[in-house]
Amino acid sequence: MKGFEYLQDELKSMKDEGVFRSLVPLESDQGAKVVINGKELIQLSSNNYLGLTAHPKMKKAAIDAVEQYGAGTGSVRTIAGTFSMHNDFEEKLAEFKHTEATLVLQSGFTANQAILSSILTKDDVVISDELNHASIIDGIRLTKAARKIYKHVDLDSLEEALKESGEYRKRLVVTDGVFSMDGNIAPLKEIVELCEKYDALIMVDDAHASGVLGRNGRGTVDHFDLNGRVHIQVGTLSKAIGVLGGYVASTQAVRDYLIHKGRPFLFSTSHPPAVTAACSAAVDVLLEEPELIDRLWKNTEFFKKGLEKLGFDTGKSDTPITPVIVGGETKAHQLSDKLRDYGVFAQSIAFPTVAKGQARVRTIVTAQHSEELLQEALDAFAKAGKELDII
Ligand SMILES: *Cc1c(COP(=O)(O)O)cnc(C)c1O
Repeated sequence: MKGFEYLQDELKSMKDEGVFRSLVPLESDQGAKVVINGKELIQLSSNNYLGLTAHPKMKKAAIDAVEQYGAGTGSVRTIAGTFSMHNDFEEKLAEFKHTEATLVLQSGFTANQAILSSILTKDDVVISDELNHASIIDGIRLTKAARKIYKHVDLDSLEEALKESGEYRKRLVVTDGVFSMDGNIAPLKEIVELCEKYDALIMVDDAHASGVLGRNGRGTVDHFDLNGRVHIQVGTLSKAIGVLGGYVASTQAVRDYLIHKGRPFLFSTSHPPAVTAACSAAVDVLLEEPELIDRLWKNTEFFKKGLEKLGFDTGKSDTPITPVIVGGETKAHQLSDKLRDYGVFAQSIAFPTVAKGQARVRTIVTAQHSEELLQEALDAFAKAGKELDII
C-alpha cells in the first residue's frame, strides 16, 4: 500500500544507524529459562521478579474467574464494566498498601496518564525528576500545569525548583521509586521532608518497587517507613505482580475524582475477570509467601557480587535491576548477542533510553533463578566480557 514511504525512509536510516530492533518472540512461558528460536536461554530481561506470571494459585484464580464471569467485561467501568470483583480487589489493595483507597487502571502507563492529566490545572506546577519513566513524562504532557524538571535525585536541584514555585496554587513533586535503567532507589525520605517543608504534594511511581521493596513488597513508601506521608502512590500489577494493570493508591477523594476525570478510566474498557482475579490472588501470595522476596534479594546479591568480582561496571544499582554498563552502543549490542550464543537472554539498551556513552546490558534476576543457573549466566558474562575486552 502506498502512503508510508516517509516512514520507510526513517526506518531505513534507523537500520543504517544500527538502532532498528526486532521483537524477540518467546516460545515458552515467562520463566527463569525461556525458549527463543527453539533454543533454551536463561532469562535475565523480564520484570517477573517473583516468578508470579505462572504461579499456580494465580493461574487457578484466573481460570475460575473465566469460568464464572467470562473472558471480558464488555464495558468501561463507569457504564457497565465494574464487577464486584473490581471493587473488592481495590479494597484489598488499599488495605495492603495502608492507604484510604485505590483505583485500578488498565496499566501503570495509563495510571500515570490518568492522575497527571486530571488533578492539576494551569494554576499548579508539577516538578519531575529528569529520569522519570516515559509514562510520567507523557502524563505531564497532558496537564495544563506548569512544569519544572529537577536533576536526577538531586535534592538541591529539587529544593531550588520548590523555592522558585511559591506562587502556584499546588506543587506536585513526582519521582520514580526505583529508576528502571539504573536500579537506584529514590531518596524518598529526604524528598518527602522537602515536600513537607514547602507544603508540596508528593507522588511516587513504584512500578519497579511493587512486590520488590517494603514489607511483603508494599513498595518504597513502606520501605522508608513513610506510610501516611506520601499523597499519591502509583503501582503496577504488570511487573512483580505478574499480571497486568496499574493503580493509584491515595485518598478516597482522589479515587472519587479519578472516577469522574481520569480519562483512561472513563474511556477504556475494564480489566477482564481473569486479570482481576489473578491480581487479587497475587496479593495473597505476597502475604503468604514472603520467602519469594527473600529469594529475590538473595539472588540479587549473589549475581551483583558475581558481576562485580568479574570486573564489570554495574553502576549505582541497589535493587534486582543490575545494569552492565559498557559505554558504546555497538559494544552493548555485541555483548547481548554473544550472551545469547552462550545461553543467556539479556537485552542491550542504548540511547535514547539511556544517555549516550552509557549503553548497557540490563539484567534483572528473579526469585525463580537457582544459584546454579545464575552461576551459569555469570560464566557466560565472563566469557563474552573477555572476548569483547570489557573485562
Ligand atoms: C513499567 C513502568 C510503568 C508502566 O507500567 P505498565 O503496567 O507496564 O504499563 C510505569 N512507570 C514506571 C516507573 C515503570 O517502570
